[in-house]
Amino acid sequence: MNQNNCLAKAELPFSAILLDMDGVLFHGMNPIDGAIDFMHSIKHIPHAFVTNNPIRLPKSMADKMAEIGFRRPDEELIITSGEATAAWLAQQKPGFRFFAIGAGGLHQSLQKYGYEDKDNADYVVVGEGEGLDYAALTTGINLILKQGAQLICTNPDTSVDAFYRGKRAILPGAGALVAPFITATGKQPVIIGKPRPLLYEIALQQLQVQADICLMIGDRPDTDILGAQQLGIQTALVRTGRFAPGEKLPDNMAAPDWDVENLLQLKNLLGL
Ligand SMILES: [Mg+2]
Repeated sequence: MNQNNCLAKAELPFSAILLDMDGVLFHGMNPIDGAIDFMHSIKHIPHAFVTNNPIRLPKSMADKMAEIGFRRPDEELIITSGEATAAWLAQQKPGFRFFAIGAGGLHQSLQKYGYEDKDNADYVVVGEGEGLDYAALTTGINLILKQGAQLICTNPDTSVDAFYRGKRAILPGAGALVAPFITATGKQPVIIGKPRPLLYEIALQQLQVQADICLMIGDRPDTDILGAQQLGIQTALVRTGRFAPGEKLPDNMAAPDWDVENLLQLKNLLGL
């Protein structure tokens, strides 16, 4: 690090960074242009990753980042909605029993603290990934309506830009997958992921920093930016995921502190 970098960093209005992952750092297995360089330039600034994606465990996310060219991040600094859901449920009811619908990583996160039990579950947990079918819906709604299980949703995203069977595709998010349970039971779920505060709070705790000295970088105004704003975290929207450069943002929300095309532009603006 040269002295110019030190001087620039001393003038930054934040001293820690939170980053979303999909649409900010990569699309599937493809790093977004400039993202690897950006991560290199902030390696001396405390940072953590907050992702609504519950499909992979933090270890698997860290492995993936290393595989596609990033420096391998510390697993403990990757906060996924699956991990946050599991930790929150363990706080509510230690040794909880659950019935989960979603990808393998979600089941693995929940198994760290709780027990799969589709006959006597305390919680019906809906996350992203395959697994929702007629039988799973039937099991879930009976647990909720007949046995008083609580409906939990890892994240509210209605859709996800991702890869499916080798092709870029729009996939149903947990917010869409939980909808039939809401319709069938009339119950509203507890939602864990962004824009709710839990993921940010865990990340701030891990970094041991206060919200107002943090910058959140994300591609979704409705989750990444809104959630951070509600906690007093500074925000930067990159237009490499949900929104393209120049595309109009929803009217009903406050503007991010920085609205940039990509991480390269942010790096230049901040003098990193
Ligand atoms: Mg994203």
